[in-house]
Amino acid sequence: KFAVEAIDLVKDYGKGENVVHALRGVNVGFERGKFTAIMGPSGSGKSTMMHTLAGLDSVTSGRVVMGWQDLTKMNDNQLTMLRRKEVGFVFQSFNLLPMFTAEQNILMPLTLAGGKVDKKWFDTLTEILGLTNRLKHRPNELSGGQQQRVAIARALIAKPQVVFADEPTGNLDSVSSAEVLGFLQRSVREFGQSVVMVTHDAVAASYADRAIVFADGRIVADEQHPTAERMS
Ligand code: ADP
Ligand code: ADP
Repeated sequence: KFAVEAIDLVKDYGKGENVVHALRGVNVGFERGKFTAIMGPSGSGKSTMMHTLAGLDSVTSGRVVMGWQDLTKMNDNQLTMLRRKEVGFVFQSFNLLPMFTAEQNILMPLTLAGGKVDKKWFDTLTEILGLTNRLKHRPNELSGGQQQRVAIARALIAKPQVVFADEPTGNLDSVSSAEVLGFLQRSVREFGQSVVMVTHDAVAASYADRAIVFADGRIVADEQHPTAERMS
């Protein structure tokens, strides 16, 4: 039932007197086909949570389970393969490859993982995201909003288990932000994609089905159907 789940998850950075307790025993499941926002002040553990859920960071103790796979039992090669196949990433700074066209960037996860292109899915995604006439452009010929829509298409192309979005609207104006959030929401509603988004923006969180709030390495609130008023 969960796309990804954290069980008694503890993450410390450093040792002895310099230890930082970034996650202090977190238990949370992220349901399939849901859009969940992770909120909380700077330093509360949001990025650490996302990185451990995505198999980018090791854990101190506890488990991370994605589908039927326990990430904490996997080696680096297995984790790299898992990220390429099962995880999509959307970043604040887009992170497109500048030498490649929009189309090549979108297809990059399949190029790296050696997967087959589902032409119909590619057409559907690029059509919905309004990228049909931008496919031969390179990132520096696209606006910020267009670049982020390319990044979303790239995150979704391989139909991953989970899409992780890290402050996806942090570099966008309010119009482009609304477009990007609306599309993430649509990918959940129409295609059953599971999305986990880190944000400190209450308006962004209001697009999610659920908002989890961190403070000092713990979950301190867990809201269904968050509204901007309640989350700010
Ligand atoms: P947030 O994303 O909510 O700002 P982080 O997960 O980045 O929070 O950080 C949680 C805590 O862990 C903070 O105290 C931060 O300083 C610490 N931390 C994060 N990354 C590292 C690191 N690589 N080394 C040491 N401490 C870290
Ligand atoms: P490769 O070296 O072949 O790019 P990686 O394991 O570095 O493989 O990356 C696999 C996936 O994880 C890629 O989609 C990449 O964008 C993402 N990724 C890599 N590093 C980070 C990071 N620090 N934060 C978030 N995502 C990352």
